[in-house]
Amino acid sequence: MITPFCYIYGPVYSWRLGNSLGVDPLSGQQKICNMNCAYCQLGNTVQLSSQRQEHVSVPELLAEIKRIPPFFVDYITFSGRGEPTLARNLGGMIRAVKSIRREKVAVITNSSLLHLKDVQDDLMEADFVLAKLDAINQGMLDCIDGVCGIDYELLLRGLGKFRERFKGKFALQMMLVKDNIEYLKELSTLAYLLNPHEVQLNTPVRPSGDAPLGRETLEKAKQSFKGMRVITCYDVPVKNNTPFDEKATVARHGNYRKSCYTY
Ligand code: SF4
Repeated sequence: MITPFCYIYGPVYSWRLGNSLGVDPLSGQQKICNMNCAYCQLGNTVQLSSQRQEHVSVPELLAEIKRIPPFFVDYITFSGRGEPTLARNLGGMIRAVKSIRREKVAVITNSSLLHLKDVQDDLMEADFVLAKLDAINQGMLDCIDGVCGIDYELLLRGLGKFRERFKGKFALQMMLVKDNIEYLKELSTLAYLLNPHEVQLNTPVRPSGDAPLGRETLEKAKQSFKGMRVITCYDVPVKNNTPFDEKATVARHGNYRKSCYTY
């Protein structure tokens, strides 16, 4: 019997990353985020914060990583119960993980803090950054991602500056819901300007406060991103991994076993 993990979850099979071992650099009892997206699979944001703080120490994380059983994953992914860039020691954590593991490191971010130089510096340590953009203006950002005081123009500028600096793989993730599906032309224009290696079109397939769009709608949406590499959450067949700790995984990853993929 494995001693429960406090900071690690999965491995899970991700349509964007393949086999992925999750690291939660916040690991609070509740989600900690500076957004409150209607579609969040982790529920309502109770701990709303934009303060970067150290939540988990590097030695604590390394001690846990050293005792995971042998397994194969494509990526070690910083995500979890909240926005990972809120961890002030994110860069140190990534460096430490890379010093003892061979896998590539990915970070999934809501893009809200990419305008900060220290956040950019931390993310330079990653191999793959998956940054989200759901909106074309302030009103749409507030509607989809929650009214949390995030400045849309600042978020967009941060994305642009980060894209210019970052030399690793960069994906733009867009959560498509009823409130932005009519604005694909505008979203694709922003995507062209940001020139990601990949556009990832998602929809809330796991239980959340927002309804998913269907497979046909996302398939059609791809046509707005002509000339770009684009994948949707329906493109990759679901594979179920057996996580080391099911409870810890559901707490960070949402109830992935109740996903409504239509295969
Ligand atoms: S979906 Fe991500 S950015 Fe939105 S509230 Fe949940 S953790 Fe935060």
